[in-house]
Amino acid sequence: MPRVLIDDGPFDFTVPVAIVGSGAAGLCAALAAREAGVDPVIFERDALPQGSTALSAGLIPAPGTRAQKAAGITDSVELFARDIQAKAHGEADPVVLKTVAGGAAPAIDWLSDQHGLAFTVVSDFSYPGHSARRMHGLASRSGAELIDRLRAAAEAAGIDIVTGAHVTALVADAKGRVRGLVVTRPDGTTERIGCGALVLACNGYGGNKTLVAEHIPALKDALYFGHPGNQGDAVLWGAALGAELKHMSGHQGHGSVAHPHGILITWATMTEGGFQVNASGERFWNEASGYSEAALAVLGQPGGIAFDIFDARIAAIARQFEDFRRAEAAGAVVEAESSDELARRLSICSQVIRATLESVADFKRRGGIDLSGRDWSGVAQLEPPYCAVKVTGALFHTQGGLAVDGRARVLKVGGEPLPNLFAAGGAAVGVSGPDASGYLSGNGLLTAVVLGRIAGGEAARLALASC
Ligand SMILES: Cc1cc2nc3c(=O)[nH]c(=O)nc-3n(C[C@H](O)[C@H](O)[C@H](O)COP(=O)(O)OP(=O)(O)OC[C@H]3O[C@@H](n4cnc5c(N)ncnc54)[C@H](O)[C@@H]3O)c2cc1C
Repeated sequence: MPRVLIDDGPFDFTVPVAIVGSGAAGLCAALAAREAGVDPVIFERDALPQGSTALSAGLIPAPGTRAQKAAGITDSVELFARDIQAKAHGEADPVVLKTVAGGAAPAIDWLSDQHGLAFTVVSDFSYPGHSARRMHGLASRSGAELIDRLRAAAEAAGIDIVTGAHVTALVADAKGRVRGLVVTRPDGTTERIGCGALVLACNGYGGNKTLVAEHIPALKDALYFGHPGNQGDAVLWGAALGAELKHMSGHQGHGSVAHPHGILITWATMTEGGFQVNASGERFWNEASGYSEAALAVLGQPGGIAFDIFDARIAAIARQFEDFRRAEAAGAVVEAESSDELARRLSICSQVIRATLESVADFKRRGGIDLSGRDWSGVAQLEPPYCAVKVTGALFHTQGGLAVDGRARVLKVGGEPLPNLFAAGGAAVGVSGPDASGYLSGNGLLTAVVLGRIAGGEAARLALASC
């Protein structure tokens, strides 16, 4: 159980800025702190920094980057902010929203120009709710590449990443100023490290069954697809220090995880004209709504499974994702030359699957809106060979967290900032509001990268000022 110790005891050594967690948020914070003139130290519980960042598709939305302009895409901060707020049903925190929408393009250009991360825009399909193509990724479209490149950048900048360093307690004074932290090593030994400022970049509570049952009861038994080390330490420490927790039920689910392979199948399979059926071969919802809310839609079907149905054209688009290529290699993607063969391979009644395919084809021909509310106008027809993947729903990460201001300072209940505590990424409240359906694609890495960068710079300036 993470604790906050109120004591004035000595430390083994002291660092200007300590950062808990070495995912995208922690590494961006460290790079920014280094640039602001201090030597930050990251404490990471794992032997190798990966976090949920490594498990992700590594796609970060940003309007007006150089990469987006080079691709000839028109976009703006205002449009991006509107898209985020529309998906969040107007419930995104306005200060955090303004901060991350405005900071996204500068952060992507910074990572490209200063740290050599060669982002390109995903320009061949759109994610639900984004009115411009603005998702930026590295060549493999994988979070593994993103974390490797961020870690390499941190190493090149001479940043110390202490691995195998599980932060098990914070040390604070009676006024809530963080004095330092306690690190527990794999052999059980502990060290006390003092700090001038602390950045919490240790994500949310997706790996903590008790907290998930408390805040997202509908997903308490669902597969958690994020990093297991994300146990909610940031929110537990913050709450103990009097911080406000916001939108704790907010989260990103996903309704397209290959089952039983456990590999993410990109939602391009849906947005490009595919659809989902249950084990009886019937559609059950509007797949164009978004993949986050898809988790509950799929888990609500018999056996908690569904089939993604698409075709070879869509598979060619999906193949830009390393995960999709892995799914193909693992045999998760079934191909069929006809609807009858598809039915046979999925063990679904052939009349039902034929009727479903025909109904979708008819809506596409007429450009109509179906009973679920999905608008098929302008959507390309599926052509044989058909493709299918058996999928299930999962919890990807939590979006609720510590209330922060535009400087990534953690706020107490009542709105006053804690003296020297900052939060970014999954540790901080996101911009999705309190519901799964409020999650716009990319909201996760957006707050990791943008708030991480801000938190690192702010923590460094504070540490320098108090030297
Ligand atoms: C399968 C999947 C796909 C996704 N795809 C996308 C996507 O394409 N775009 C997008 O925007 N978002 C995506 N997300 C969400 C995204 O991965 C997260 O929002 C983002 O990685 C959060 O970054 P972070 O740095 O806050 O946390 P993490 O990357 O999880 O890093 C937190 C780190 O803190 C460490 N840690 C935790 N507690 C402690 C402690 N007490 N002491 C020391 N270390 C600690 C952990 O070990 C971990 O390394 C996806 C998520 C999943 C699961």
